[in-house]
Amino acid sequence: MGLGDGNKKRTVVFGMARSGIAAARLLLSKGREVVCADEGGKISIPPDLSGAAMVSGKFSPGLLDGAAEVVISPGVPMEHPLMAEAASRGIPVISELELAFRHAAAPVIAVTGTNGKSTTVSMIGEILKAAGKEAIVAGNVGVPFSGVAESLGPDGFFVIEVSSFQLEAVRQFHPASAGILNLTPDHLDRYRSLDDYYRLKERIVENCGGEDLYFYNADDAGCVSVAARFPGRLAPFSSTREAAGGAWLDGDDLVRTDPGGARERIIGRREMGVVGIHNAENALAAVSSLQGLGIPAEACRRALAAFRGLQHRMERVAVISGVTWYNDSKATNVEAAVKSLSGLDAPVVLIAGGYDKGSDYTKFLEVLPGIKAVVTIGKAAPLIEKALEGRVQLERADSMMDAVVKSSRIAAPGDMVVLSPACASFDMFRNFEHRGEVFRECVLETGGMLG
Ligand code: ADP
Repeated sequence: MGLGDGNKKRTVVFGMARSGIAAARLLLSKGREVVCADEGGKISIPPDLSGAAMVSGKFSPGLLDGAAEVVISPGVPMEHPLMAEAASRGIPVISELELAFRHAAAPVIAVTGTNGKSTTVSMIGEILKAAGKEAIVAGNVGVPFSGVAESLGPDGFFVIEVSSFQLEAVRQFHPASAGILNLTPDHLDRYRSLDDYYRLKERIVENCGGEDLYFYNADDAGCVSVAARFPGRLAPFSSTREAAGGAWLDGDDLVRTDPGGARERIIGRREMGVVGIHNAENALAAVSSLQGLGIPAEACRRALAAFRGLQHRMERVAVISGVTWYNDSKATNVEAAVKSLSGLDAPVVLIAGGYDKGSDYTKFLEVLPGIKAVVTIGKAAPLIEKALEGRVQLERADSMMDAVVKSSRIAAPGDMVVLSPACASFDMFRNFEHRGEVFRECVLETGGMLG
């Protein structure tokens, strides 16, 4: 039972986006019989997957006939009928992350959390490379893990960004270093409660043992509670207090505990290539994720000085007439936006709004002292205005171009204009990348007119 034609193990890959394609490719290379399925219309599959069977259209139970295993894409909810059908037939359902892990020879450093994952994994990758190690950054950021799982020998490192969706279907996934950056409400449209969401994130450490490392935000109660149950080594990080064993912010310096237990300076905040307190936290997380690996402080310093941030995450777009423009389109929830706006040292004109996810925009009040004006866009504009009414100058814009023009009128030399929407982008744009690109084009066009 469970064997398909020709005595090969049949695997159904359900959901043919990027990670599904990478999973199917890996399975085919292992000689598996693969069925690629997708509920969308026509699936466009790369030619090298022609050895797989293709099934498109709504799920029917017959899809699982003869299947030994199912690999699901992160977009498939746990309530999907496929899950119950697979359970009733005793067919294991795994995520693409799990599949990739089973084929990886190099140790895994895994990062999850609500915000800062992509930035942190990129920083970890850069530090490892600066220390002369082989490292591949994959997962939600860049390439899917399955696409590179066999590319490293045991001396290299996989640095994997892990989303809660991927954690829903793990079994043996076992990182040598696993971290949770922060846990704030997000994706509450997918999970029944905050507790469910937290429990899922904790699955990142579920197979860890005494030799493994857990690095975590010592200022976040959810992350700390996982530490209390963790069987291995602990490396906390903090931007507010000493975090012995890990890394912390000491005045303006990022420091860590060295192997002898002494305090060791890594880099000054202002020497870093990226701005904002959240990026200092991401750097602290990156440093603490590597505790015990013998990475020299100098390699950390060089990598963090050179790292200029990822696109759409407090990315510096232009300096026009003394005003610096930042694209933080990736801030799709209010916590992320507030973080981006914390600890900036110039007055900010903020462009915010978009598709509302049920957020509490009064959280912006925390950073109001640094904000000169808020220009609102999209469906959430009236909600943001209501939350901030009477507390700050407000302007409504009816397009991105209008927002950029209004912001440029308000901003004075030395100020920053930051697009940090605190909302999803679907009301006006295809995705956050598209929103960020439109913003960039509008800024450059306005710059051209001014300059
Ligand atoms: P993720 O991969 O988790 O979505 P990113 O590194 O892409 O995170 O950053 C997304 C946005 O989240 C950034 O633009 C910034 O606004 C915010 N952010 C980044 N790091 C943090 C952090 N450590 N804490 C809170 N918010 C953050």
